[in-house]
Amino acid sequence: MTPIESVNAFFDRGAQLIHLKDEMYAVLKSSYREVQVQVPVRMDDGRLEVFTGYRIQHNGARGPYKGGVRYHPTADLDEVRALASLMTWKTALVDIPFGGAKGGITVDPTGMSPREIQTMTRRFTNAIGHVLGVHRDIPAPDMNTNAQVMAWMMDAYSATHGYSPAAVTGKPLDLGGAAGREAATGRGVVYVLEGAAKHWGLDLTECRVAIQGFGNVGSWVARGLDDLGAKVVAASDRDGGAYRSDGLDITALARLAGNRHSVAEAADVEQISNEELLACDCDILIPAALGDVITEANAPKVRAGIVVEAANHPTTTEADAILVDAGKRVIPDLLANAGGVTGSYFEWTQNIQQFKWKEERFNDELRDVMVRALDATLTFADARQVSMRDAAFAIGIERVARTSKLRGYV
Ligand code: NAD
Repeated sequence: MTPIESVNAFFDRGAQLIHLKDEMYAVLKSSYREVQVQVPVRMDDGRLEVFTGYRIQHNGARGPYKGGVRYHPTADLDEVRALASLMTWKTALVDIPFGGAKGGITVDPTGMSPREIQTMTRRFTNAIGHVLGVHRDIPAPDMNTNAQVMAWMMDAYSATHGYSPAAVTGKPLDLGGAAGREAATGRGVVYVLEGAAKHWGLDLTECRVAIQGFGNVGSWVARGLDDLGAKVVAASDRDGGAYRSDGLDITALARLAGNRHSVAEAADVEQISNEELLACDCDILIPAALGDVITEANAPKVRAGIVVEAANHPTTTEADAILVDAGKRVIPDLLANAGGVTGSYFEWTQNIQQFKWKEERFNDELRDVMVRALDATLTFADARQVSMRDAAFAIGIERVARTSKLRGYV
């Protein structure tokens, strides 16, 4: 299954649960607008590379389109379309006033110079600028894009539209970024897991956790869980992983990652591969890197009883069925990683008001939003005896359908 087929299979199950009418189904299933652009970049060695970029606006019934931009070799039309659809249900599930979008450039930016990345970012922003805007579509960081890339996007957009900090989120603090945004996705994962553990009567200090990916999301999840007393026994990045049965030193791993070293280089650890991490002896598995990593082939080997999807779409449809049939609890991406877009919402509101919150307020508001979405998901799942994923999709679809009807789309 392609990413969009996979997301649509989850969409169909949610739609069936709420008996979505046929006409509304047709409107909600496909994207509203799909923009594909050419991004020519003069490389440092004088060659001209022509990349392809995308911005997909899936649904804007509940507010401006919102979603990240990723620079990755797999970021093609199909993948970006699937991720845009996920954003629509995610923003609705956490009940923030945004629709869903995603963008990307099919490129491997590793090895590209900062000048090349800046040129590519400005070209891309100019090419999709006509569909962006503070009240139209607001990009954010995703894989291989960061606060610096957002600063370039904001500057390129502002060059034609005037100073517009609210046109992009995930910016550096000095340029309208919000204190707390960088850690928000990881913190949101931790708030949700903490709440779910309480609901299930589980003591996190007795849990062993494995985290795949030690970038923005994975590293903040590791720090947050470590602070709560959970034992992070395994962590990895693209170059490999580290395992230690009595718990890894998270501060040391963060230092390695911060210095562009692999966590696999940590002292006194057993080196493991990413595939071994997924099957390692632990209670909670947290994929926080790429999509489609838990597949039909490796899902039967997952030993953890709980899977928390910090990454977007880490579990294929077939693998999801295997995990659910095996009685595993899966906290779906729609809910688990929604702290990122919620933090972006807080940044956007602060930019529009030109009023800065303290980080404590940011984190308190974030916890409120995440816990409310978790409660709604658990209540639906328990009442209807369905998985948390089916519940999360059903809630999101129902809310978007209601707004679409009020607007007269159908
Ligand atoms: P990042 O680029 O900061 O980090 C990605 C991490 O994954 C790095 O440690 C990298 O080494 C690792 N990785 C890359 N390829 C890998 C491979 N083949 N095997 C194992 N590890 C690999 O990205 P991020 O912002 O932390 O995003 C991670 C995931 O979380 C993505 O799926 C993204 O869509 C999702 N997400 C991010 C945010 C956010 O605010 N950053 C919000 C919601 C969802």
